[in-house]
Amino acid sequence: MVSCLRRLVETESPSHDKAALDHLGQYLAEEFAKIGGRIKFHKQEHAGNHLQVDFRGPGKPVLLLGHMDTVWDLGTLASMPFRVASGRAFGPGGFDMKAGIVQAIYAIRALREPVERLPRAITVLLVTDEEIGSQSSLQITGALATKSAAVLVLEPAQGPQGALKTSRKGVGGYHVKVQGQEAHSGLDPDKGASAVLELARQLLVIEKFADRKRGVTVNPGVVRGGTRTNVVAGEAAVEVDARVSRLKDIAYLDKKFRSLKAFDKRCKVEVSGGIGRPPLERSKQVAELFTLAQRLAGKLGWKLEEASVGGGSDGNFTAALGIPTLDGLGAVGEGAHARHESVVIAEMPRRAALLARLVESIPG
Ligand SMILES: [Zn+2]
Repeated sequence: MVSCLRRLVETESPSHDKAALDHLGQYLAEEFAKIGGRIKFHKQEHAGNHLQVDFRGPGKPVLLLGHMDTVWDLGTLASMPFRVASGRAFGPGGFDMKAGIVQAIYAIRALREPVERLPRAITVLLVTDEEIGSQSSLQITGALATKSAAVLVLEPAQGPQGALKTSRKGVGGYHVKVQGQEAHSGLDPDKGASAVLELARQLLVIEKFADRKRGVTVNPGVVRGGTRTNVVAGEAAVEVDARVSRLKDIAYLDKKFRSLKAFDKRCKVEVSGGIGRPPLERSKQVAELFTLAQRLAGKLGWKLEEASVGGGSDGNFTAALGIPTLDGLGAVGEGAHARHESVVIAEMPRRAALLARLVESIPG
């Protein structure tokens, strides 16, 4: 598993480098073909080609979902090489989430032994743009998820105990722009309508959209406006980070933002944006899937935990489509997107074993 991980880490694959991603995709396709997978590339003009691998077997497939892109630029290996120390494997993109891909390969291998026949159909989808918002892969992910009995996401586990992620917040942003009327602050103060003052009043309204109990937060993090102290400001704008815990609050929050109206009739308020990644809710389906995973982990001799996290993954989309989704089945380690990114090697086999057990045990 370590040498396979080494190969994947040493094939660098930043989200914006199509050639590098296609190179890694080709290598992965060969590895999956060796264990009986049927390869299909979803060719992209600008993004890297997304890799789909189908394994024949009875029943509805289980979708193993991951990404092969990383946040690390080409050449990062020079200063942050793949290395093993104190039971950990270091290197760019190993934890997030190339080790998860390795575990998937080994889980499928194990399931094929000794008769080279799988207990059920499996689809693997490895996208190339998860770290930059999944624009070009979203439709493919959705279409494959809808055909599947469940989605198992190969993203890193949470914390040193390797908890699965059964709830993630939905994340997005709003841009509110105010158009005022410029005027000389000394000669014609009454002819002007200050966009800055109007925006200040809007901010006090926006603040009230937050609802802690419902898990709705808004943060007007960046404000811009005006040009000179002696000019009544003609323009002002705010960028707001917005997060929700429940699907239905996407519409609630959107309605609030879209209903913003200017206090001063001479000003105009424009709103754009929205919640781009829906929340992964701990629905009944998610809870049932976790209970199954916990039982299977118990048989392998460990107590599997669950966690709720603030960030999102492609699992948020599949869960929002109503497909049972379990996230965080990938590697145990630490430092995603950080230079000390590392994987606990001893955890890899049993997580591959859990993945294999889940694939054969999920009903449907
Ligand atoms: Zn990731």
